[in-house]
Amino acid sequence: MIENIKIFEINARHALGKSGMAELDYAFNPYLGCLHGCRYCYAIDMSPSEASSNWGRTVFVRKNIITLLEREARTYKRGIVGMSTITDPYQSVEMKFRIMPKAIEILSRNGFYVTIQTKSPLILKDIEILEKYRNNLDVGLTVTTIDRKVAALLEPYAPDPVKRLNALKKLTQRKIKTWLYLGPIVRGLNDNI
Ligand code: SF4
Repeated sequence: MIENIKIFEINARHALGKSGMAELDYAFNPYLGCLHGCRYCYAIDMSPSEASSNWGRTVFVRKNIITLLEREARTYKRGIVGMSTITDPYQSVEMKFRIMPKAIEILSRNGFYVTIQTKSPLILKDIEILEKYRNNLDVGLTVTTIDRKVAALLEPYAPDPVKRLNALKKLTQRKIKTWLYLGPIVRGLNDNI
C-alpha cells in the first residue's frame, strides 16, 4: 500500500454500465480512480477530478455496488461483462472491500460471462471462485515490461511485473482461461521486448 492515499466511499447509481468496447456488453467498475497510477492510463480523463488530479493516490469506492448488482443481474439482458474498464479491480483497496468475489459470484450465477483484467496478483485470493465458475469467465494480466526500472517509470505503484506473470501461471495451472495483455508499448521505453 502506498502512503498518502485518499479513499472515498460513494454510492453508485448503477453497477453495470454500457461498455464502449465492441467485445463487451457491460462494464463493471467497483472503483473510480486507480492506485496503480499508470502514467499512460486512459481512465485519468474518465475519473472524478479529485482522482485524476491526484492520479494513483485517490480512489473512490462504490460501496453500494453489490446491492445494485444483485438487482441488475436478475433483470438485465445476459451478456459479457468487463471487469474493469476504467480502474483495476484488484488494486490494493480490494483487500479491504472485497467487492470482486461477490460480484463474480452474482454475475456467474445469473448467466453473465465475466472477463477480468488486472495488474495485480491479489486476484489469486479469489482463485477458488474463479475455478468454480471457470466456464463462465477468463482472466487477463497486463504486463508492459519485465524491466523493473521501466515499470517504475510507467506504472509507479503497480505490482511487480514478474509477480503478475507468476499469478498468470498459477491461474493457468488451475485450468482457468487466461490471457496476457502486453501493452501499451511506449516508444523508447518498452518497445524492445
Ligand atoms: S492499472 Fe489500469 S486502470 Fe489502473 S492506472 Fe493502470 S492502466 Fe489505469
